[in-house]
Amino acid sequence: MKICRICRQPVKFELGRGFVHVGGGAYMMRCRACGRQFSPAKPTVNCPACNSRDVVDDHCVYVVEADDLAALESIQRVAEKLQ
Ligand SMILES: [Zn+2]
Ligand SMILES: [Zn+2]
Repeated sequence: MKICRICRQPVKFELGRGFVHVGGGAYMMRCRACGRQFSPAKPTVNCPACNSRDVVDDHCVYVVEADDLAALESIQRVAEKLQ
């Protein structure tokens, strides 16, 4: 299964657009008023939860295999212990 490495949510593939978050957007947005994260298919300026316009881009989708992420994290844990 493919997920976004940054928000750890599943991603989906859309023809002509590539991988996007499940909400349909390549970018994950974040509302600075309520903290809600969302990934609109079309650019938006309003938070779907509280309708605030104080929304910012949080990150662009970063696709990894969930298995790879688990492997990567176990390597990182080992590396941290060695420091
Ligand atoms: Zn993400
Ligand atoms: Zn909000």
